[in-house]
Amino acid sequence: MRLNMFINGEWVSSINKETREIINPFNQEVIATVAEGSREDAKQAIVAARKTFDEGTWSTTPASERGEIVRKIGELILQEKEELARLETLDTGKTIEESRADMDDISNVFFYFAGLADKDGGELIESPIPHSTSKIVREPIGVCGQITPWNYPLLQAAWKLAPALASGNTLVLKPSEITPLTSVKVFELFEQAGVPKGVANLVLGAGAEVGAELAENTDVDLISFTGGIETGKTIMQAASTNVKKVALELGGKNPNIVFADADFDVAVDQALNAVFFHAGQVCSAGSRLLVEESIHDQFVEALVKRTKQIKLGNGFDDSTQSGPLISAEHRAKVEGYVEVGLKEGAQLVVGGGRPEQAELQNGFFYLPTIFTGCTSEMRIVQEEVFGPVLTVETFKTKEEAVKKANDTIYGLAGAVFTKDIDKAEDVARQLRMGTVWINDFHPYFAQAPWGGYKQSGFGRELGKIGFEEYTEVKHVYRNT
Ligand code: NAD
Repeated sequence: MRLNMFINGEWVSSINKETREIINPFNQEVIATVAEGSREDAKQAIVAARKTFDEGTWSTTPASERGEIVRKIGELILQEKEELARLETLDTGKTIEESRADMDDISNVFFYFAGLADKDGGELIESPIPHSTSKIVREPIGVCGQITPWNYPLLQAAWKLAPALASGNTLVLKPSEITPLTSVKVFELFEQAGVPKGVANLVLGAGAEVGAELAENTDVDLISFTGGIETGKTIMQAASTNVKKVALELGGKNPNIVFADADFDVAVDQALNAVFFHAGQVCSAGSRLLVEESIHDQFVEALVKRTKQIKLGNGFDDSTQSGPLISAEHRAKVEGYVEVGLKEGAQLVVGGGRPEQAELQNGFFYLPTIFTGCTSEMRIVQEEVFGPVLTVETFKTKEEAVKKANDTIYGLAGAVFTKDIDKAEDVARQLRMGTVWINDFHPYFAQAPWGGYKQSGFGRELGKIGFEEYTEVKHVYRNT
């Protein structure tokens, strides 16, 4: 497979003809060779997006027509679901079942924003000045730079692409350089759906080159970034060149609070789902378990028993429950954190190494791992590992649980498990996080906004707010 970039309605290789090999993390086979763009390629894509926006044809296309095109993209994604899911599993190692679920979610994201495209007719407000009218309208921002990570390659892109298109912007997407396959495929679907030339552009390549150009370039009006906290800080600084709008979806160190009165089996199931889903490579992974002291031993015993049964393997095998980590570098990072945990005195109760099965030796696998005896001061409790590593702390009171849960620089998501709904709602109110789940972990959908408090970022994706992020607000005052 050889894949190119999509700039101004044309499939193009990079100007300097460089390429990059894309690796399957399950067996390290080369699955594709893709164009490796440079700053010059990114500049060309930005020029195309700028010119197209300034010509105004897309932003003035009736919103209902834009909505129809966005809806068509959602339909094409459903038609191509199997192929897209196959590419996502090849590229990330996640199970094919997860990839199929991602494609369903992604098509729903396009349907949701397609529906919102023509719903905002502006608002008339009462002017305090006699003989005047005031109306508030929303308009597209302009050229959007969009940078996405490798853990949910197409899903994270869809959260940005769909609202940007529906609201009349032009855009340049830069997916993670290690997982570009589904983004390339979806741009083919954009063409089929009738997205006009120059509206949506795709550049491939390294963050420090192509991504940095998007963040710095003064012809870009908004930069929307999903990725790690340090990259987010760099992008925020770079964006100051022209005071472009910034939206940051960064990491998390998400607490999962289990009270003694929770439904035990549901809480065990969800504590495992929270941290080990997609090998823990999820921004909202429930990687910090806070369990009420009275049930700690029993709860950990159940977790350890179940963790040992998690079947690692090829994402294409139906029996596989968890795939490999994304890369050798990322596994080395996870291994480094396990070393840190051990040095800090946390007790390793399961995992803590690579699996021994011969058939897993070519993949970047790491065993699901649990540490008990953890405290808030430990780095393993404070820093995002982004892998299958759970830390367990205990608490005695609701107040202590909330205090420990909030004791982090992050504020992306958290969960609380209890049968006492008043208590659950009280905890939900006190958690400083963008999403709180009660008696569940991980549900998200196009209708509900997603984003972080504190250093998990700012701005929201999905929901009505996620649409509004791609608009400017204008007050039109008329002296009658
Ligand atoms: P990363 O920050 O290394 O890379 C993300 C993207 O930024 C990639 O496309 C990369 O090429 C690009 N990039 C790197 N350096 C850049 C620079 N100097 N300028 C511009 N772009 C640059 O993150 P990652 O390892 O791909 O993803 C993992 C991180 O993403 C985790 O921290 C995770 O929590 C976070 N994440 C957050 C959410 C969310 O919704 N909050 C969702 C998914 C992932």
